[in-house]
Parts: sequence; structure tokens; C-alpha cells
Amino acid sequence: MGRLFGTNGVRGTINDELTVDIILDISRAVGTVLGSGKIAISTDSRMGGEMFKQTAIAGLLSTGCDVVDIGPSPTPCLQFNTPILGCIGGIMITASHNPPQFNGIKVMGSDGIEVTREIEGEIEDVYFSKEFKIAKWNEIGSLFSDDGAIRRYIDAIKQHVDIDAIREQNLTVVVDGANSVGSLVTPILMREIGCKVISINSQMDGMFPGRNPEPIPTNIVDLSKTVVSVGAAIGIAHDGDADRATFVDESGNILWGDQSFAIIARDVLGKKKGSTLVTPVSSGRLIEDIVKNAEGNMDWTEVGSVVVSHRVVEIDAELGGEENGGVFYPAHIAVRDGAMTAAQMIDIMVRNDLSVSELVASLPQYRNAKTKVPVPAEKKESLLDTLLELTKDEPRITLDGVKLQYDEGWILMRPSGTEPLWRCFAEAKTQSIADRLCNKGVDLIKEAIMRT
Ligand code: MG
Repeated sequence: MGRLFGTNGVRGTINDELTVDIILDISRAVGTVLGSGKIAISTDSRMGGEMFKQTAIAGLLSTGCDVVDIGPSPTPCLQFNTPILGCIGGIMITASHNPPQFNGIKVMGSDGIEVTREIEGEIEDVYFSKEFKIAKWNEIGSLFSDDGAIRRYIDAIKQHVDIDAIREQNLTVVVDGANSVGSLVTPILMREIGCKVISINSQMDGMFPGRNPEPIPTNIVDLSKTVVSVGAAIGIAHDGDADRATFVDESGNILWGDQSFAIIARDVLGKKKGSTLVTPVSSGRLIEDIVKNAEGNMDWTEVGSVVVSHRVVEIDAELGGEENGGVFYPAHIAVRDGAMTAAQMIDIMVRNDLSVSELVASLPQYRNAKTKVPVPAEKKESLLDTLLELTKDEPRITLDGVKLQYDEGWILMRPSGTEPLWRCFAEAKTQSIADRLCNKGVDLIKEAIMRT
């Protein structure tokens, strides 16, 4: 039986890989597995969003679930509102940062967090077996709408920052909403916490005329230029469903995700000794240094935001984060949240009276290297055992692939989720050491291919 769910939900090209038939059956399977109750639903600005939402609503109602349509909103806004609305789950129609021709679906549980791999498996079983729950004619669900979700979400984020202090600084902030749902929240939030706001790409448009929705450096050049030309203190760019924020400093330099994550981690962990930070094995030394200096605890996980969210809740951690800039702040909600992350960054600037570039300069600096090694498809899985054997005497973490931990740096070797290759990452204080470690990883993978 094939897999339906990828790393974050189901995604595909609209009306091609992802059709209304698929969305209908997924939503019927979701209603069947989650049981009777209310399900919250939302969309981003993507093409097909309304079509897929109406389809999902029909599928859910047919199983007897009630549905609460909260209108277009960021994924974390739906997640925040799911428990508040007393829902047993949530459905977000989004393909996050994928190109414009994609759409998809993310499924949340009653706590607003994306469902676990186990629940995904149950949904897949029902999807493929087509053993859907079919409500009797007089038990079909009802559709409700709620227009207070974004207001509640913004008000909740405001609880976590010092609005008076921020207002005093009168910062100018440029927000790039990626022509999607981040535009419905972050410009308003920033204004309400006391910043002067300039917005770009803030009209909702599924053609994404402003830029590709992934907030990577090549896509946010306009934001960099705008920050510099208007003399702003910071630029904020969201992805398509605004669960992530990428930052630009006052000189137009784009921060790496692990830098913004580290700045927030240092602040949150600094507030309470012995705090715990959850992060995947793909995170680097910078985050380890931050945790060590704050006398906190590091909790490693497999790669994947859903794993991080559930682990944060399970061990009651103070913070979670990913090297791509995803930050999970459970005092608000234990999921990646672009608007919350942006508000935290502004709050940290103001409380420490530092510019974004000064905050970055205060972090330990590391260099990294990464590459791919083609692996024959039939050896892709079994290679792990050989690599584990080859590295058994090395200091290492084996939660997800193999991560070798040395004083001078680290090497992470992981199979690609989709392609016949393994990826190798390395990080160290200097580029030459990072390159050497990366080459060592490549040699290990090649040796493992020969021995497998
Ligand atoms: Mg996203």
C-alpha cells in the first residue's frame, strides 16, 4: 500500500496529482478516524483552495462531523483556534512553501498539532480501503462559520510581548506576506504592538505574482531592498501558510533560519535555568552552544516539524525549533508559528536594545557544507545498517540517519525521503574543516555502498 502523507500532510499539483476525488476521500477518511465532533477548516491563498475546502467540507459532513469554517488564515491560526473552538481536529488546505501550481492538506488533532504518524497511518488505511463512515440521513453534520479566529490569534500573540516598550522604540517593519495568509495577520499584529508597518506582496493572490512562496534568499530580494530603502529596522517574510518567518536585518542581509532560531532560543532559555529545547538532529553547533551557555537541556529528535511539536508537548519543553527557522513556542502553541516568531524577534530587539545585525553578530559563527551522494535504489534503505556498523566506535546520534559528533564539528548522513540518494551535511568553525568533514561523510557513504 502506498503512502499518502509526506513530511507535512498531502501535497500535489492542482487538478493533476491532487484532485477533488482525492481530497474528498481524505476528508471522509479523516472524519471516519477522528470520530464525531467538530472539525475546523481553513485555507491559504492558493488556487483551488476554495474548491478543495468545499470538497473537504462535503466529505466531513457525510461522515457526521460538524465543520467550522474560519475563512482563510495562517496554519498556526487554525491550529491555535482548533482547541479553543472545541474541535476534535482541523483541516488546512495548503501546500506551504511549494510552488504556485501545488496545493495540499494538513490534518490536525484536537490540540491543533498535526496528527501523529500513527493517526496518519489510520487515515491512510481508511483512505485506501474506502471503508468510510457514512452518516445516516438524519445524522449528517452541520456547517458553521466563525469570523473571530484571526482576532483571537493576534490577541493571544500580543500577550507574549512588551507592547509599551516596543511602542516607545517606534520601529519601522517591512512585512512580505508572500501574497498569502501571513498578510492577514502580521501587518496588523505589528501595527498593534506599536511598530510602523510597510507591507509588500500583501494582497491575497494564488498566482503569487510577488514572489515564489518559499522565503529563501533568492525569493526575498525585494524585501531586502525595501528594508534598506525605507530605513526599516527589520524585514519579515512568510511562507505560503505563514508557519515560518525569515528575517532581514536593517542592512538588507537575510538571516539563516538557525540564526533567528538561536536568537529566540537564547532569549527563551535565558529566562529559566534548566529549560529544555527540542530540535531535530539536523540542527547544528550554534544551537548546542546556545543551550550549553544557558545551562539548558538539549532534546534531539528525528527530522520533521510534527515530531518536534509532539515531543515539545510530551516532555513539556520550553521551546522547539528547526534550522530552517521554524520556532515552536509552547507558551503560545507548540507548533511552528511565523507571526509569533516575528513578534518574539521584535520583542527581543527592544528588550536588549540591539539591532538585528547586532543580535546576529553576538552569536557564535559556524560554517557548513552539504552534498548529495547517489545511492542505488535497492541499497538506499539497507545502507543505514552498514553505516551504523562502520561508525560504531564514533561519538554519534542515531535517531535519524547517522550524526557523528566531534569536538571540531559534526557530520550528518541521512537518506533522501524521495530520491535515490543520501545527503551529507557538515558544520565546523571554519569552511575548510566543514568541507573536510563533509568529504569524510561522503567517503563513509561510498564505503557503505561497496559493503552493502
Ligand atoms: Mg509552511
